Amino acid sequence: MNEQTDVPHNLRVVQDKIQLTAQSATRDPTEPVLCAVSKTVSADGIEIAIAAGQRVFGENRVQEAEEKWPEIKERHKDVDLHLIGPLQTNKAAKAIHLFDTIETVDRPKLARILANEIANSGVTPTFYIQVNTGEEPQKAGVFPGHADEFIELCRDEYGLPLAGLMCIPPIDEEPTLHFSLLREIAHRNGLVGLSMGMSADYDIAIAFGATLVRVGTAIFGPRG
Ligand SMILES: *Cc1c(COP(=O)(O)O)cnc(C)c1O
Repeated sequence: MNEQTDVPHNLRVVQDKIQLTAQSATRDPTEPVLCAVSKTVSADGIEIAIAAGQRVFGENRVQEAEEKWPEIKERHKDVDLHLIGPLQTNKAAKAIHLFDTIETVDRPKLARILANEIANSGVTPTFYIQVNTGEEPQKAGVFPGHADEFIELCRDEYGLPLAGLMCIPPIDEEPTLHFSLLREIAHRNGLVGLSMGMSADYDIAIAFGATLVRVGTAIFGPRG
């Protein structure tokens, strides 16, 4: 984050655009939640956003979150921290203590280990299942063709509290096809939460039903 970045101003601009887009899509303007993606942002930068009223944050790496967030959470008990990057099974135990929401559940082994950790620890974060809507080999997420089966496994077999689905569309493709595919999979499985949309396309995502948008650059400026 650059010294000149006016985080409180940027937050207002993004919140206004969220509300306006929701309104013009005839949605409740207070429904879409802004997750401020604070990866690479220092604890001081995050404190500025919290002072401006922001409460939901996203980090993509467990280790980075571990270094920054325990102290911040100690000071601000009402922040809601989301893991939005891939989760390795050997970090599952750490992750359920550090994060309030894990958006990247995407394979049976991880779901099983998370379920065991929850049973052993008593903490219960909320989960999203990540869907690899573009079927990109290098990207995490369950493929659309396996999503129904995987949702059922997570919900019925492992009893994970599922809030919804998350996707990261391929960077060089029109995102609307991916947003509508994610919405369709969620609806047919009775899931309400749709985590989709980033700085470049969160307004489009809201028009397609996003309940949670993950915005970094438009709030904190370009990452170095
Ligand atoms: C970094 C990141 C974002 C935010 O991207 P911006 O383009 O900076 O808004 C959103 N979602 C995920 C999964 C990310 O890793």
